[in-house]
Amino acid sequence: MAQEASGKLALGAVADDYTGATDLANSLARQGLKTIQTIGIPRDGLLPDDVEAVVVALKSRSIPAAEAVAKSRKAYDWLSAGGCAHVLFKICSTFDSTDAGNIGPVTDALRAATGADTPIVCPAFPGAARTVYLGHLFVGDRLLSESPLRHHPLNPMHDPDLVRVLARQSEGDVGLIPYTVVEQGADAVADARAVLAHEGKVAAIADALTDRHLEILGDAAARTPFSTGGSGLGAGIAAAMVRKGRAGQGKSEALPAIGGRGAILSGSCSVATLEQIDRAEAAGIATLRLDPMKIVAETDATFETIRAWIAQQQDEAPILIAASAPPDVVAQVQERFGRDAAGHAIEGLLARCAAHLVESGVRRLVVAGGETSGAVTDALGIEALLIGPEIAPGVPATHALGGTKTPLGLVLKSGNFGGPDFFAKALSVLE
Ligand code: ADP
Repeated sequence: MAQEASGKLALGAVADDYTGATDLANSLARQGLKTIQTIGIPRDGLLPDDVEAVVVALKSRSIPAAEAVAKSRKAYDWLSAGGCAHVLFKICSTFDSTDAGNIGPVTDALRAATGADTPIVCPAFPGAARTVYLGHLFVGDRLLSESPLRHHPLNPMHDPDLVRVLARQSEGDVGLIPYTVVEQGADAVADARAVLAHEGKVAAIADALTDRHLEILGDAAARTPFSTGGSGLGAGIAAAMVRKGRAGQGKSEALPAIGGRGAILSGSCSVATLEQIDRAEAAGIATLRLDPMKIVAETDATFETIRAWIAQQQDEAPILIAASAPPDVVAQVQERFGRDAAGHAIEGLLARCAAHLVESGVRRLVVAGGETSGAVTDALGIEALLIGPEIAPGVPATHALGGTKTPLGLVLKSGNFGGPDFFAKALSVLE
């Protein structure tokens, strides 16, 4: 039976994927909250007593909406039993979802569970160039629908208007809190939210162009029991709690050195990751690029090929194994096998690789891709992550709690995150 969350919990979060959870946990730790990321609801005794924020990581972004709602609701019930003053439903900064969900259905369900009226919803993450202007999500200087996210293997994003996107997934109408209101401060946002609640809106998309806007939104959101957003909104809520003396006793953990062999596994097909793979290979990291057609059609044979390749590499040198491919190859694979079947087969194979790597002595593991990270973490049986120093915006170094018999340094990178030399940097921070 899972333990109750500590009575001191200030902030709880339900995250719809593992890398997103890590991104948020990183932001909360940077605000001074002692933060743990758990993989699902933790078992009794796993959490330290002085933890102030718990991010429950689910793998619910791309599963049927009813399942996502049920899992999120369970996580919420556990957090709420721990007395959390506020619960954040953590979503991706690029609002990854389809018309079937899952952002709308989960927001509707948690709003009902918390007794909140109209939650603030804001995925913005200005540090990674995701901003919301008049309800429209920008990735850098492009609308979401003109960004590479339109080619995402699981959640292709074709509509940049978040009010419209969320309304298609929700039980009712969605309102907007424009940046002109946000600029006026937290009281103005709180008033605008109350007006939208009076009008019966089920959610309020809020603009944010800067971290300052997210601090203002966080202040307003912290006055309510529930919100939906990215790690930027989470940081804003945490900052408000620290300012008001409701949290902030903890510091992010300094991680002890682990050493040992390093490996990188990539299942992300994002533009950023494809470049990071090229850079790592050019920098001399032994790289195995897998044939995605073969992975799906001949999974066991591919795994044996990978094992043989790993055995041929120098013992201590880092290695990189990638299923990642550009959009035209992804389209061919999906056309032949179906999107979900292809995705699951590739994730499953990379997860098997992770287990094999750890068995063969890898102690520092970097994983690229949100879904991929979920599959790897599950295969390794990891129960929670202690959050360490930041490697790139949104990506901390972590140590695994539970699961592996030997210490394991882990970096879980959402596809779009990190600069071109991310992989080498991640391995060296884990050292
Ligand atoms: P990101 O964080 O970039 O979204 P994810 O791991 O969440 O990365 O999603 C990428 C999905 O694409 C996974 O389901 C993965 O298995 C799948 N995938 C990886 N490589 C290929 C490929 N070559 N063809 C088709 N799908 C792929």
